[in-house]
Amino acid sequence: MSSVELDLRRDVRSVYCIGRNYRAHAAELHNPVPEQPLVFLKSAGALRPLSGGAVAFAEETFDHELELLVWLGSDVPLHGQAGWEAVRAVGLGLDLTRRAEQSALKQIGHPWTTAKSFAGAGIVAPLVPLDAVASRDDIDLSLRVNGSLRQQGRTGDMLFPVPELLRYLASFVQLSAGDLLFTGTPEGVGPLRVGDELELSSQQLGRFVGTL
Ligand code: ZN
Repeated sequence: MSSVELDLRRDVRSVYCIGRNYRAHAAELHNPVPEQPLVFLKSAGALRPLSGGAVAFAEETFDHELELLVWLGSDVPLHGQAGWEAVRAVGLGLDLTRRAEQSALKQIGHPWTTAKSFAGAGIVAPLVPLDAVASRDDIDLSLRVNGSLRQQGRTGDMLFPVPELLRYLASFVQLSAGDLLFTGTPEGVGPLRVGDELELSSQQLGRFVGTL
């Protein structure tokens, strides 16, 4: 299957992330299930390819969140009808999280920026053109760290599937070609350190390796 390696500095515009989009993950962090999508932002400058790149706070332990990435190929006007037709490619990525920092920020009601949008906090594997994906509404995803299985899920378990996320986002922003979505993580989040070997895989999207 031919994959597409994005130039993250040139090909990506806004980066939207979804929290608590799988019931079992919300439960493992003792969070309630949201009634509408929980949206937060990463800056494009926080992205790095799976194959390597800078990570801020490199002395810390991060939580890995394995997620389906969705890259838009066309603009969607504000309040426009959005769905899979706006998507050009999908792939696998990690939403790296400084969990202790995020918990402290939650407690004082501050934004999650320093927990979620530092350099290296968005890890992007090569993408696969949507045309090449057979069952786009139920994609399997797995993460191995240093050879051991950490996360395994199916996007069919999302509380808010991709078309619903796009419709929701288009209800309050202008979506653009080049926008990237991190669609939320299944359960099994856990610690990562710089130097760990990462293997992101999916029967439908391929197998991709890198090092944090
Ligand atoms: Zn996430």
